[in-house]
Amino acid sequence: MKYKCSICSTMIEEEQFKKIDNCPSCGCPKYLIEKTEDEIEESNSFNNAIKISKDNPSIEKIDEKCIDCGMCTKICFERENIKDICNGDLCVNCGQCITFCPTNALIPKIDKDKFYKAKEDKKILVAYTSPSVRVSLGDEFNLEKGTFVQGKLISSLRKLGFNYVFDVTFAADLTIMEEANELIKRIKNNETLPMFTSCCPSWVKYAEIFYPEILNNISTCKSPIGMMGEVVKNYFSMKNNIDKNDIFTVAITPCTAKKYEIKREEIGGTDLVLTVRELADILKDEKIDFVSLEDSDYDFLLGEGSGAGVIFGNTGGVMEAAIREAYYILTGNLLKNIEFNSVRGMDEVKEAKININGKELNVAVIHKMSSAVPILDEVKNGTSKYDYIEIMNCYGGCIGGGGQPKILIKDEKEVKEKRIESLYKRDKEVNVRYPHENKDIIKIYDEFLGSPLSEKSKELLHTSYKDRSKLLEDLLEKSI
Ligand code: SF4
Ligand code: SF4
Ligand code: SF4
Repeated sequence: MKYKCSICSTMIEEEQFKKIDNCPSCGCPKYLIEKTEDEIEESNSFNNAIKISKDNPSIEKIDEKCIDCGMCTKICFERENIKDICNGDLCVNCGQCITFCPTNALIPKIDKDKFYKAKEDKKILVAYTSPSVRVSLGDEFNLEKGTFVQGKLISSLRKLGFNYVFDVTFAADLTIMEEANELIKRIKNNETLPMFTSCCPSWVKYAEIFYPEILNNISTCKSPIGMMGEVVKNYFSMKNNIDKNDIFTVAITPCTAKKYEIKREEIGGTDLVLTVRELADILKDEKIDFVSLEDSDYDFLLGEGSGAGVIFGNTGGVMEAAIREAYYILTGNLLKNIEFNSVRGMDEVKEAKININGKELNVAVIHKMSSAVPILDEVKNGTSKYDYIEIMNCYGGCIGGGGQPKILIKDEKEVKEKRIESLYKRDKEVNVRYPHENKDIIKIYDEFLGSPLSEKSKELLHTSYKDRSKLLEDLLEKSI
């Protein structure tokens, strides 16, 4: 006799069923696990599972582990609004299907061999860590959810042999300097509005496939990791007299889509993306006792980020950071209430009005593609009331990325809120809360970039987008 979870469809053997109180995959109570005569199909034909192509740069599917429960297809439809017909071919690489696969048949693409190869080749290894990694990696080592492990994270990377460890919050600050100035320029010159944030590669790819009409509305800023790669290869190398070809850059991220993003021809500088789960696996393989590590600090030059950069990992964080900076640029004053509660929290669509020098700015924050659709339709039809919109693909923002440690379905909201809170707490604790106050940001503009939106900035820190709607048209044609 077998048992099947009625929530996530995980199959459970009788012996295991006797011992458990909750579903081992989604955590739902035992009474929701039902007797079934079904056997796990020993077949390679999957009717319900999402199709993941072998060349998907972000996701891997292990067929032997798949029980064809259909959870991945359901999530892709419910969260990404990517309908059955597209079944994996239009994947935006977000990894949300991984998060809910009950058997780990879906996993982030494993690229750790590339790290070992670079080490063997005696490359200068440079790591940079995304904001949300410091509040999630501890889950893999049984620390309390949301524990802030920045110091141990840095030490663990040094133990692995990285020569330099930098902080992506530095590049988040750089993004805000560029993006806030871009927003102000668009408003002053009556250019295309609303402006969308651009730091989520899944959202950008979604727009390229499903909403090519609004590509001019997306900020031209590269994502923080896109900027970080360029800055390391072009600025850090110059300052330290290192040949940039000797440097191997590794972004440590919560995000499976970043593995796709660094392969885009417009984006350079980052050689490898490792997700939080991959990093944890490497640390376990290397028998590094993460919990006992002493704290250490990021390296000089690209290692300082403001509180505004830290909250990038949360839904609403990019918006809040950009508003802080735009307000300062336009008024010369710092915001009185720096914490912008109306764009915080887990509501899927949040909106706010901000008065800057008599101009009212309408903003919206969305963190699930399916919730973005009505707003995207309004922008496409020219009826949107907004000036500035933040879209992040994952529920909760990057703290909920597809490369993060897995969370039981029943605990999703609670765990994500703990990670979010931990980043807001850090923002409160640091002395520097505005990007323009970050001394490393001041330095890079003085020594290298000139000013936000300068020719140098545009060359290295900005990008362009492609209409990829043909992919959808071709699929629709095939299906008729
Ligand atoms: S890949 Fe995972 S979620 Fe998808 S059908 Fe298979 S077991 Fe279910
Ligand atoms: S990675 Fe995202 S878009 Fe791709 S199949 Fe999974 S849920 Fe769908
Ligand atoms: S929200 Fe963050 S983690 Fe999720 S796809 Fe976008 S950038 Fe990646």
